[in-house]
Parts: sequence; C-alpha cells; structure tokens
Amino acid sequence: MEFDLIEAIRSRCSVARADVRLGIGDDAALLAPPAGHELAVSTDTLVAGVHFPIGTSARDLGWKALAVNLSDLAAMGATPAWVLLALTLPDANRDFVVAFADGFAELAAQHGVALVGGDTTRGPLNVGVTVHGFVASERALRRDGARAGDLVFVTGTLGDAAAGLRCLDRADVRAQEFFNAPADTREALVARLNRPSPRIAAGAALRDLASACIDVSDGLLADLDHIAARSKVGIEVDADALPASSALLALFARDERVVLQATGGDDYELAFCVPPAKAADAQRHLSRIGCGATRIGRVVAGEGVRMLDHDGRELVIERSGWNHFA
Ligand code: ADP
Ligand code: MG
Repeated sequence: MEFDLIEAIRSRCSVARADVRLGIGDDAALLAPPAGHELAVSTDTLVAGVHFPIGTSARDLGWKALAVNLSDLAAMGATPAWVLLALTLPDANRDFVVAFADGFAELAAQHGVALVGGDTTRGPLNVGVTVHGFVASERALRRDGARAGDLVFVTGTLGDAAAGLRCLDRADVRAQEFFNAPADTREALVARLNRPSPRIAAGAALRDLASACIDVSDGLLADLDHIAARSKVGIEVDADALPASSALLALFARDERVVLQATGGDDYELAFCVPPAKAADAQRHLSRIGCGATRIGRVVAGEGVRMLDHDGRELVIERSGWNHFA
C-alpha cells in the first residue's frame, strides 16, 4: 500500500532534470549541484490545525507545503531545483494523496523542481518538505547585511492571508464583514492563504541589489525583527505605507487592516533592505518581472523594529489590537 501511494505521488511529479542522476526508488537520491554555486537547503513542516486549518483541501495543502519552502529559497535569492517530501498520514487515503500530489506537482512544475525522494509513514497528518536550490557562490541574500541608511521595501501586498484565515473562522465575530462581502473578494483573500506564490523571480532579481532579505511568514514586524537582530540595526516601518490589496481595503477599516498587515503572517512576500543608491534599480528589476514593491521604511542605528504612525509617533500593536505609544 505504501508503495502504491509513493507511486501515485511519483507519477504526478514529472519534472525531469539532468542534475538528478538517480531519483525516487533507491535508498538515496544522487544529485549533481552545478560548479561555482552554493547549495541553499531549507525545510519546513506543516502540522494540521497549526499551520493550516483542518478543512484545507488536500490539493491546496500540497501546493502550500511546497510554496512555503520555496519562499525560503526565494528569500535567499536561490533558484530551486530539488525537493524531498516526508508525508505522515493517519490512513492510506489514496484520494487524499492524489489530490495532495496534484497541488504539489502543479507548483513544482511552475518552478522546474524535481521531487527526488521522501518518506511515507502512518501517524497524525504532518507534511515535511525539504527544498534544495542553487545560488552563485557568495551571492546569496542574507539577513545580516542591512546597514543604517538602507531603505526597506516589501513585494506585493500584506495581510490578505491573515484576513482569509480570520474570515474562515465563523466563530470569530470580527469575520462578519467577510460574510457580507462579495464572493470574489472572499475568494481572493482565502486564495492568498491557501495558495501563496513564492517570490522566486523577485529573490533572483534582488541578488546583487538587496543588502538583506527575508520572506514574510510570521508577520512583517516579527520577520523584520530577524533582519534587525542579525544585522545589528534598528528598523522603522511607516504604518500607512504598508501595501494592501483591493480586497483587504474593501473589507477592513484602517486600524484593523494595519494589524493584519503588520502581524498577520502567511504572506510569503519578500521584505528587503537596499542602499538608497540601488533602490531605483531594485524597483526597475522587480517591475520588469511584474512584481510590485513598496517602500515601507528605513534602517536606522540602534536595535529592534518600530512602527510609526503618520504623525511620527510609535504605533504599538498588541495581540488584542493597537494603541499609541504615549
Ligand atoms: P527506505 O525504506 O529505503 O527508506 P522507502 O520505502 O521509504 O525507502 O522509499 C522508497 C523510495 O521512495 C525512496 O527513494 C524514497 O525516497 C521514495 N519515497 C518514499 N516516500 C516518498 C514521498 N512521500 N515522496 C517522494 N518520494 C518518496
Ligand atoms: Mg523510508
């Protein structure tokens, strides 16, 4: 039965690469990384009820499990190549595995990623994915290169996935706007939650321009905090500069919207720092690949991340909402 499931997965993930000398079917895969490059390797686990709502479709789950991993490679400026999939399933549900593999394969095909191995075991639903990519030696984007004076940007828009998650929860009184909203608005937000688009091309475009980069998975402020800590700098974010989709603008008033944008998470956009002299180049490179980027703040001497309101006062966001810092 396990082999039947592995075959169902393998047959759907059909990307073939010359650098895969030996793929699924032996005790280990044999892979040939290109000369002059470093291997970028990352792994992320998705646990039901923690990293995705229990009702998420198998197809969306397959997509998302790969997407969140590719997002980490994007943040390094790496080009994805190979992936391993460790699936733990409560039972040998072939329909689930087929739908999962279809969603996974759809995104893998978009990025030319070959599934080269994995593991299939029984237990509480758990999806572990390990991705490998290449980046020319010493040219990866890291978290530790930001310098005071750099500008801070983010790709795309923020807060949609968090809004989609909140609004899937019918028990959440704050979700009322959502159920009154047009179906296409609702679907746009939920799609951002279930089918994030890893910013691979944007990461590659920023390789020689950004001084630091991270993907926004835990929430913008929390993730920028990692850049601040690793780079030993402070970061100021302008609350009113945060980019919002039309769906988010339509459903949420300003204060609630800012909370979703700054802390919601699951955005899988890239937040990056760039020296002022390279900012125009970075924006031009990104617009050439059809990826918008918005300037949201600046790197300063000091430590930590502060969000500023339009009047320059610090805007402190707490779990329960936001309030002005006196
Ligand atoms: P072993 O017992 O040697 O660990 P397995 O029986 O677990 O081998 O797996 C057989 C082959 O199938 C291996 O090449 C393994 O990498 C691959 N494989 C197992 N599960 C998966 C999966 N979920 N996705 C992709 N490949 C898998
Ligand atoms: Mg095994």
